[in-house]
Amino acid sequence: MFKKLIPDFYYDNVSCVDLEKLKSNGIEYVICDLDNTLDSHNQKTPSDSALEFLGRLKDADFNVCIISNGKHERVKAYLENYPLKYIAKAGKPLKKSYLAAMGEIGADPKKTAFIGDQIFTDVLGANRVGLTTILVEPIESFENSFFYIKRAFEKMVKSKIVKE
Ligand SMILES: [Mg+2]
Repeated sequence: MFKKLIPDFYYDNVSCVDLEKLKSNGIEYVICDLDNTLDSHNQKTPSDSALEFLGRLKDADFNVCIISNGKHERVKAYLENYPLKYIAKAGKPLKKSYLAAMGEIGADPKKTAFIGDQIFTDVLGANRVGLTTILVEPIESFENSFFYIKRAFEKMVKSKIVKE
């Protein structure tokens, strides 16, 4: 169980993700969380840093699918001017949510990396389906007291892993 909480890679933010390294590990598909990974909850459209990262993925020929537990309207509006495949109301960490995202882009789990900010939903679920997992620090730290508690548990796990 504990092993499934540990990401393969751990970075400060998406801008730090080493795409060359992913390529050399045979990764061709990227499934990426939206809120607090690409942008904060209240960022309605992709920020400059998100656009820069999505552009780098595109330039490196990765096939990308956005996966979010957020509402369909939220994800749809966010991607309105930057169309990408997506799964909203995904239900992470359920396996079927990752399988649905992989289905959208025809991804093979061995060639797929997942990027997200939460250990107990994002990383756990992605590890359960055998993806290469990348954890980033959340853009906003504490939305409410529930998040505060969850982040405290995450901190315990993070103390065991080394950032790239
Ligand atoms: Mg998130």
